[in-house]
Amino acid sequence: MKLKLTADQTFVRETNLSQVLRLIHNQAPLSRAQLAAMTGLNKSTVSSLVDELIENGLVHETGSNTGGTGRPATLLEINPHAGHIIGVELGVDFVSVVVTNFLGNIVWHKREDADPAEDQKKMINQTLRIVKEAITTGRRKNYQLLGLGLATPGTVDVNKGVLVFAPNLHWRNVPFVKIFSEQTNLRVFVENDANAAAIAEHLFGAARQCQDFIFVFAGVGIGGGLFLNGNLYRGKNGYAGEIGHSPIMAEPSHNVCHCGNRGCWETYANQYSIIQRMQARLEVKRTSIVPQLMAEHNLPLSIPLIKQAADAGDRESIDSFVEAGHAMGQGLAGLINIFNPEKVILGGPLSAAGKYLLPAIKETVARHSLQEIGQQVEVQLSTFGPDASLIGAIAIVVDDTLWHPVTIERR
Ligand SMILES: [Zn+2]
Repeated sequence: MKLKLTADQTFVRETNLSQVLRLIHNQAPLSRAQLAAMTGLNKSTVSSLVDELIENGLVHETGSNTGGTGRPATLLEINPHAGHIIGVELGVDFVSVVVTNFLGNIVWHKREDADPAEDQKKMINQTLRIVKEAITTGRRKNYQLLGLGLATPGTVDVNKGVLVFAPNLHWRNVPFVKIFSEQTNLRVFVENDANAAAIAEHLFGAARQCQDFIFVFAGVGIGGGLFLNGNLYRGKNGYAGEIGHSPIMAEPSHNVCHCGNRGCWETYANQYSIIQRMQARLEVKRTSIVPQLMAEHNLPLSIPLIKQAADAGDRESIDSFVEAGHAMGQGLAGLINIFNPEKVILGGPLSAAGKYLLPAIKETVARHSLQEIGQQVEVQLSTFGPDASLIGAIAIVVDDTLWHPVTIERR
């Protein structure tokens, strides 16, 4: 028979369960004795907490530690089959849906182009159709679905589950959690794409065990996810991290940003800025294989095309990326001076051109940040590259489960 606990005891028990679960997630394999030492809880409390985590399928035993002296200890790790999760990334011109296990490993994936000129309702219906396909697939395979995460560009009110404003989609006040939970009957979470990607790096990727880092989502815009002291920094209203809209050079002649201002950092370093740099080179008749590739594929100038040319050694294409990399580095140098992060992680669609961008970013960061701060920061590519936000959509559900392990519902 289960003991009846008071509200306070229930809260303490959940807090302890979460602490043990997060340690196992972050540092597995661990023994019960190690967990007791790390948490300061006594061994019998840890054993009882671990029993509960094993009982609800979140943790399992994985062999034993035979090294050292003394009795071999049974080791614990996260059960990858603790449940499955549906992740949705809403891009400016695509919708991507995945099903993963509890460790973020993809078992089903579908991506469709979406026309950004289409109305909001049509794009949401397209997304719901793919999500329902994912749910049907999951049910057929008997997956326990723990929830659905949705990553979207723009400012998100996480508590209300509403996309407040996405300049690049021209959408305002979209109640994503209400729409998707009504239609799927799952627990639904929504998060800004860069924040979601930062959580993914922290849980599964390049920033595991890293307490202070900046995730940079580079694509149509430049978004940021700031991890400070081991937690995502949201700011007063939850909108922190809109790094691409910092005004770095407000010349009246410069491009108008999607937000309506001029001189925003992202207009110097986003996808469109690279296409513009390439266009300017072609207009002055620089030698490049890009016009030939455009004609061969019958395609307009695009990032994949410039990347293809760069990979073939096309100097003008490489330089277009390198210039954007320097612009990224300038904005980052300011952030690095302010936050003194351990790492800066570059993800999103432009990270596919990371081999051209990264050296330029590093060079400019070294030149423009304070020496003591800039020297120790590690600038690297995302573990998930262009799929960083998609895995981020998964990570926000896993993160909630790690913090609230008793609330998981088996459906
Ligand atoms: Zn802007």
